[in-house]
Amino acid sequence: MTIRMSNHKKLYELQKAEFDRAVLGVLENGFDGEAEIGAFEREFANWNGASYAVTVNSGTASIRIALLALGVGHGDEVITVPNTDICTTSAIRQTGAHAVWVDVDPVTRTMSIDALQTAITPRTRAIVPVDMFGHPAEIPTILDIARRCNLAVVEDACLALGATIDARKVGSFATATCFSFGQKKHLGSFGSGGCILTEDAELAERMRKLSGYGEARSYSKNKVSLGKEAFFWHETEGLNERLHEIQAAILRVKLRSLDQNLATRRRQAATYSSLLDGLPLSLPQCRPNIEHAWRNYVVEADDRDRIRETLAALGVQTNLSYTPPMHLQPVYAYLDRGPGSYPIAERICSRLFGLPIGPHLSDDEQDSVIEALRKVLQ
Ligand SMILES: *Cc1c(COP(=O)(O)O)cnc(C)c1O
Repeated sequence: MTIRMSNHKKLYELQKAEFDRAVLGVLENGFDGEAEIGAFEREFANWNGASYAVTVNSGTASIRIALLALGVGHGDEVITVPNTDICTTSAIRQTGAHAVWVDVDPVTRTMSIDALQTAITPRTRAIVPVDMFGHPAEIPTILDIARRCNLAVVEDACLALGATIDARKVGSFATATCFSFGQKKHLGSFGSGGCILTEDAELAERMRKLSGYGEARSYSKNKVSLGKEAFFWHETEGLNERLHEIQAAILRVKLRSLDQNLATRRRQAATYSSLLDGLPLSLPQCRPNIEHAWRNYVVEADDRDRIRETLAALGVQTNLSYTPPMHLQPVYAYLDRGPGSYPIAERICSRLFGLPIGPHLSDDEQDSVIEALRKVLQ
């Protein structure tokens, strides 16, 4: 028996009747194309306390589309961190902008404020902080800096759905907040999906257009005088990155149990933090004004490779999200940022490993993970 990092089949079976009904409903309605999407966008914005939600087909697309809608492109610099999913950096670079990495805080593992301040140049257009593993970056401070320097903040909250700062959920702080509904994220679709939240109605409309060929979804209604062809009237170029309606229907089912999902993760994280205390492991820390989303429970140890191998032999899966850091990836070798460029991010990435967490994990399984770790480390 292997204790797994994720188990989609088990999560499907827990709510099989609801999922089946949701998917069949979309098929039987002949792909209305809008009904489930609109309903999900309203419910998701509501759940997060945000004004506008624009669904897209991945977390990667959400970052790229938010930046494009803000006018970021060739010649611009966008500041982010190197200890993240490649999607954060590749989404920036695919707008034509240059991704400028800065080092992170060793405790929260999110963007260092000092490093951010020194990296801002006249070419900087936006900051993309990453809420690493579900611990929000220092968003209020980053927003203050951004306001002073006239920069946009596109928050990569792909791991932080439900996290709070001063008891307010992430999603309504930044210029745009990006989420992923990748299967393994805690609001996981049965495929791919993403969403951008914003308080800016015009930005929402631009993002919506960009995600669907550049057409305004309301265009044919507003410009009736142009006749039928108005539907193909383009004022801008867009992408084809919309969320699939079947995924929206599935996400609406999952959204109903998201509070419970988060409560489970918070309980499991508290159990790990109390029962692993005292072992030679660095446990994840949380700032006092933060409620963590616990998408990942990521510990650090010097001999993590040996620990992971021994745990695997005892039937416990772990993972390595994310390592190596971006500046040491082959794809970015030409940028010539060698080892030592971002020492804190490098240290974190060389020592981290994630433990199983989430609603698929039973209490007995979590006990076995803890027991295995004790055996390996004592
Ligand atoms: C998952 C993830 C993304 C990308 O989301 P996809 O839906 O897989 O495209 C971006 N940033 C971070 C931090 C992520 O964890």
